[in-house]
Amino acid sequence: MPASSKVGAAVITVVLLVVAAVLFWPRDESGPRLARRTYADIPRIDVHVHLDPEQVPSATRIFREHGVYLALNASGGHPDGGGLEENIEAMRASNGAVRPYCSLDWRNVEDPDWDDYVDRTLRSCASQGAIGMKVYKGLGLGITLSDGSLLAVDDPRLDRAFALCGELHLPVLIHSGDPQAFFTPDGPDNERHEELAAHPRWSFYGPRPDSNESWPSWQTVFDQYERRVARHPGTTFVGAHFGNVPEEPETVARMLEAYPNLVVETGARIPEIGRFDAARMREIWTRFADRILFGTDFQMASEDEFVLGSAGRELDPRSRIPIFYEAHWRYFETADRGFAHPTPIQGDWTIDGIHLPREVLEQLYYRNAMRVFDLPPPPTE
Ligand SMILES: [Zn+2]
Repeated sequence: MPASSKVGAAVITVVLLVVAAVLFWPRDESGPRLARRTYADIPRIDVHVHLDPEQVPSATRIFREHGVYLALNASGGHPDGGGLEENIEAMRASNGAVRPYCSLDWRNVEDPDWDDYVDRTLRSCASQGAIGMKVYKGLGLGITLSDGSLLAVDDPRLDRAFALCGELHLPVLIHSGDPQAFFTPDGPDNERHEELAAHPRWSFYGPRPDSNESWPSWQTVFDQYERRVARHPGTTFVGAHFGNVPEEPETVARMLEAYPNLVVETGARIPEIGRFDAARMREIWTRFADRILFGTDFQMASEDEFVLGSAGRELDPRSRIPIFYEAHWRYFETADRGFAHPTPIQGDWTIDGIHLPREVLEQLYYRNAMRVFDLPPPPTE
């Protein structure tokens, strides 16, 4: 064979090898699994779950399977027949793997002994071992006073309660308002239409069902929440759902800057924040690395039915749980682009991972929660 043909054959062979390599090289479709291999050793605290006391044993098994060694239960109830005692019992039985927040019943605000009630209740929460106080979105959007108005998040009659939480070292996990889209007209153009169609009562647009008044605007409730946080520098607030404003990461950054007593958690809002430019989100996250806590809003409805961030008319089956967690890890840990977010009903879009460095992941996953809630270090295996 002449030398030129040998060169020709060699070139063809190389070209064929390259083509074969491109065609058959295993593709990296294992983004989330890759991340788990890298960071599975970092322990996790979920600061926002919802469980009934009898669900704690089976939920604890689920959490452990996914690296969550401690979960803080926002459905802890209130003392003296309101569920807290049962939740404290469940906490003991779980060896502290699930710890309850407790709540106040704001409907008592017009009672003459309101201040005594607040004092008695919060002291009982603290002495029984509740981890903090949970404030539901009902404050601002659900508690109706005798004159028909809604009890505002910043109503001065509640000042004592929030100040006392600071004195008793009960951080306040506070959910105020709801997704901005819930305050705009529903219809095919509303980006949360699927959710609103499944749950018409989640809409805060137009007249309130129980009165002639309209719902307050999203901004009205948010401003009440901001004034509440500003009024109590001695009380730690955990702004639920990415500081109650996942649609505006710049506002979250502004508030974290302005209020040293505020931290935020990620519960049920990865779909929303995952839409923003990943580099910008990473910047905000790194700047406030000690102020953002991991939360999911994981909710158990029965042994086989779950609410993973949100749900439609049908609840989530158990088989979706690993997908739900993996989408979180993938968002925090990888630089993957355009992948499915954890809660499909929250919107028809994909998200981009923010690829946080290990030190920031450790703060997000457990160190910040340890500091805020004054928790012991994770168990070593
Ligand atoms: Zn929740």
